[in-house]
Amino acid sequence: MGAPPPLCWMLTAINASEPLQTANKNPPHGRMPHSLILCGGDMDELLKEGRRLAAEWLCREEGRPCMRCRACRNALSGRHVDVTLVNEGPGETIKVASVRALRQSMLLSPFDGEGKAALVAYAQNLNTASQNALLTLLEDPPPSTRLLLLCQQIGALLPTVRSRCAVLRLPAAPEAAPSSEHMEQAERYAAALASDWDRAALALSWEKLSRDELAALLGAVLAVLRRQVDAAQEPAWYLHKMDTIIECIGALRQNASVGSVCGILMC
Ligand SMILES: [Zn+2]
Repeated sequence: MGAPPPLCWMLTAINASEPLQTANKNPPHGRMPHSLILCGGDMDELLKEGRRLAAEWLCREEGRPCMRCRACRNALSGRHVDVTLVNEGPGETIKVASVRALRQSMLLSPFDGEGKAALVAYAQNLNTASQNALLTLLEDPPPSTRLLLLCQQIGALLPTVRSRCAVLRLPAAPEAAPSSEHMEQAERYAAALASDWDRAALALSWEKLSRDELAALLGAVLAVLRRQVDAAQEPAWYLHKMDTIIECIGALRQNASVGSVCGILMC
């Protein structure tokens, strides 16, 4: 297995009052926060990166994750005994019993190494009781554990949960290169973000697009915003807008109607 492709993570504290940190590589081992929200639109990609981060946490070789040792191979393939995965599927509520079981497993000593990791897929489906149960893990994490919430709609998480986690924003998968027409529309939308009137008029014109066309167009908008965020004077404002776009793409992939997504984009 070769080295992973370089990733452009943006590491930010979700609390907008904290200074923005950006990183072009993963956080160095040992500095990985206890609790992370991995957000993006595609659960397969989030799971892949969650497993890679678990490997990074559990690997004990140089240049971790080395991607070759037993810990890495088991973590990457989802077979590591010290990596717990909660995956109820895309449409299922994650109930409080699942969170309590996760907490119990995190309290046990590692079987095979010095640390443990837990991944919660579709974390947007944690209900309020589950998120409150999760707070005990976030506030008092068992030693040598890392918790990764894989979330397609970060807005579904309670502020109390979000404020206790660092956020890793997974870049949108490099799908087909956007067409010049999409790029032009994306540039116009990014330029119109500060204007309610222009933004609403543009989003209204997108109601005639198909779901796939709108998702591709929003991918282009995201690319434009990513390009602008590093130079922005108010990066938190951009990150908030990017969250909205990421959530809209996720909603389209879960078959939300084009009209409802355009409604969000107009607001
Ligand atoms: Zn390794």
